[in-house]
Amino acid sequence: MNGTNDMSGVIENVLAGEDISQEDALQIYKKCDFHLIGQTANYLRKHTSGDIVTFVVDRNINYTNVCTSKCKFCAFYREEDSDEAYVLNTEELIFKVQEAVDLGATQILLQGGLHPRLPFEFYEDMLVTLKQRFPGVQLHALSPPEIAYIAKMNHCSIREVISRLHDAGLDSIPGGGAEILDDRVRSSISPDKVGWKTWRQVMITAHELDIPTTATMVFGHIETLSERIRHIIRIRDIQRKTGGFTAFIPWTFQEKNTALEGMFKLACGVDYLRTIAISRIILNNYIPNIQASWVTQGSKVAQLALCFGANDLGGTMIEENVVRAAGTVFHKISNKEIVHIVHKLGRQAARRDTLYKILQKYQ
Ligand code: SF4
Repeated sequence: MNGTNDMSGVIENVLAGEDISQEDALQIYKKCDFHLIGQTANYLRKHTSGDIVTFVVDRNINYTNVCTSKCKFCAFYREEDSDEAYVLNTEELIFKVQEAVDLGATQILLQGGLHPRLPFEFYEDMLVTLKQRFPGVQLHALSPPEIAYIAKMNHCSIREVISRLHDAGLDSIPGGGAEILDDRVRSSISPDKVGWKTWRQVMITAHELDIPTTATMVFGHIETLSERIRHIIRIRDIQRKTGGFTAFIPWTFQEKNTALEGMFKLACGVDYLRTIAISRIILNNYIPNIQASWVTQGSKVAQLALCFGANDLGGTMIEENVVRAAGTVFHKISNKEIVHIVHKLGRQAARRDTLYKILQKYQ
């Protein structure tokens, strides 16, 4: 237990299956030896999720880049009158989905900016059209800020919006827009976006309607370590209540072309791996899937994350625009590369669907 600085009792309790408190999680993150925090998370991963490493073949389609929120960490949005502003029409959407399906995609992640002039029917028509045309494709669509914005613009409740979108074809909801679930952080980096309690309300309502969602975290910007840990604790609190999260997906802030570029030191590889590990340690009794982010870390660090508590590599993302706009250099990963990095670890790679059902195991 060298290097634990008297945290060995906490580690032993965690390994015995006990929940960790917020304060102990913070101390473990700060004081625990780098290898020991990784080994602890890896043990929990193996115990809960086994040795299969999953991924999904998917495409992220952003139906519009027009957004009134203007988050400081975002390089993707455009003003409505910008020459680069767009809203995809039905033909463009169908073309993109068909292209993805031809490449084996089973999931389409549909997200966009908070467009001030799109009527409710735009979202319903988009989902109805895609569901009718591609009934076998899972529509993982519209994050909590978009749902809350549709509710606000149409003077209806979050429950009504989710119900109508679900009737139109929405299968599950991505956990985007969580950033850090803390209003001090949010009021600084995204003051016009929903507060953390509204994000929670959307998720709880979706889960009450039996619609599964993921949970995310964008870290390594202005948040304190304590706020980062509390974010994960808040995700655990929601999950204790509803059980509706399928996965936790943390990734690091990418700064290029954003209003925050050059303002602070970005999270390094060690920060990333410690954060993956503490996510597993906090959430292990509640959320079985912790996702490694090849798109922000590259395949080599993502591979290491699989030894620090992660068990999933997310989507192959035939298309991704939002993180790319902020300068990530990792744009592509093939099924072959995923299988290679997983098998090099002595684990088994498997393609899954949105709800983590195994579709194909690779030998
Ligand atoms: S992160 Fe989302 S809500 Fe914020 S400005 Fe970008 S597109 Fe808009």
